Amino acid sequence: MTPVTVAYGDGIGPEIMTATLRILDAGGARLELERIEIGESIYKKGLSNGIEPASWESLRRTKVFLKAPITTPQGGGFKSLNVTVRKTLGMYANVRPCTSLHPYIATKHPNMDVVIVRENEEDVYGGIEHRQTNQVTQCLKLISGPGSKRIVRYAFEYARANKRKKVTCFTKDNIMKITDGLFHRTFDEIAPEYPEIEHEHWIVDIGAAKMADTPEAFDVIVMPNLYGDVLSDVAAQITGSVGLAGSANIGDHCSMFEAIHGSAPRRAGQNLANPSGLLHGAILMLVHIGQADAAERIHNAWLRTIEDGVHTYDIFKEGTSREKVGTKEFADAVIVRLGCKPEHLKPIEYDKGAHMNLAIRPGGDPAAKQRTGVDLFVDRRDGNPDEIAAAMNQFDVDGVKLTTISNRGTKVWPQGNPDTYWSDHWCCRFEGNGAAFTAEHVVQLLSAAQRAGFDVIKTEGLYTFDGERGYSLAQGE
Ligand code: NAD
Repeated sequence: MTPVTVAYGDGIGPEIMTATLRILDAGGARLELERIEIGESIYKKGLSNGIEPASWESLRRTKVFLKAPITTPQGGGFKSLNVTVRKTLGMYANVRPCTSLHPYIATKHPNMDVVIVRENEEDVYGGIEHRQTNQVTQCLKLISGPGSKRIVRYAFEYARANKRKKVTCFTKDNIMKITDGLFHRTFDEIAPEYPEIEHEHWIVDIGAAKMADTPEAFDVIVMPNLYGDVLSDVAAQITGSVGLAGSANIGDHCSMFEAIHGSAPRRAGQNLANPSGLLHGAILMLVHIGQADAAERIHNAWLRTIEDGVHTYDIFKEGTSREKVGTKEFADAVIVRLGCKPEHLKPIEYDKGAHMNLAIRPGGDPAAKQRTGVDLFVDRRDGNPDEIAAAMNQFDVDGVKLTTISNRGTKVWPQGNPDTYWSDHWCCRFEGNGAAFTAEHVVQLLSAAQRAGFDVIKTEGLYTFDGERGYSLAQGE
């Protein structure tokens, strides 16, 4: 028996969870359930992240969470429970299989069978944002080496354990050479450890277009958080029904399994909702906890149910479907078919002995870091580059020189283009003038800027790592 924490959620949550748990039980899943309350009722008690302290104890104890959708109350002040749980418990990988079920579920892509593996903790999802000037706001995109290694390794281990043939990486490293460049480079470094699995990289824009047009060209796709967020929804949608997909959030210690749809409050309490999305989340959970036998039995019975045309209202279609059923009756239909395999769709076969080796491998020695300069970001309304450069060139700081000024990433000094639009947000780059650039130089520059009446909104250190430049150049630099 494996202990599992379950939450019945809001809206259609309780109905689809009841249906799912009945199927799991009949399908031979060996689970010891601990129930917790999350969502609307907890938000209403004044807990802004929708979960009570005692529930964390259950999650830390069982390490496995099967979660029905919840309703996030309208209005400010409420934090997303999903994001809170994922981040607090370090669930770094989001896995979403997207498979079409042609001809039973209408889709333009009859042969689609793609698994999206999305990095779940980093990228712009740190939510670190600042309004820096009247005109300019920023959001920090953070990509780490260890974070990239873990997700890329996860994608390859997933592919190996599930007998997938190819892993594709999507990034935008033609523009974000340092952040997305790190993700891509990590992918290229880890891929050769899996020689039996083909690997390739696409720039995310054309990759996304290809995936939306010819998804059968892909197998497993691994991506940083933001691209993965957007494209996992696109992938689920083009299989024909977002309502059927489940997803797994995997961490080293705790993992969470759910449907990708929401709580559909308008359908609640009417025995109408389709429990398939949550059931798929539960199937991913069974594989994760080593009960692939039950997962396979249930998945095949579900495929047979779909094939037999027993459909809930959301996927019911005259001509293809045979019987329109409610939530309970759909669960009954799956249970009756336990032990059956689909006759036309490809039966599922999970590798019962598959093991994913996700141990963190030791990294190499850290690179030698050397400071070479500083970017001073200043807020200057109605400023112009020549005037700013002239004032800064008067700074009484030895051993440094102003090398460029850029405005939102485009060089405007020296030799700027008169057509470039100037916002009130200026990046003034100082570098060492022959000698080493020290922290003391940064302090002196800040003091000089203050004395000269500049409003410095932030500084960003410029470093090399093993001699390699660790910062971008401005457009035109
Ligand atoms: P939704 O996914 O709940 O509903 C979108 C549409 O799909 C609706 O027409 C709904 O009736 C239908 N639908 C969804 N699931 C269905 C199912 N299982 N069977 C049949 N029809 C189904 O999205 P929404 O309406 O934008 O959001 C409703 C609430 O859910 C919001 O409070 C939102 O914050 C929350 N939400 C929660 C999660 C989660 O807990 N993981 C995810 C998304 C949205």
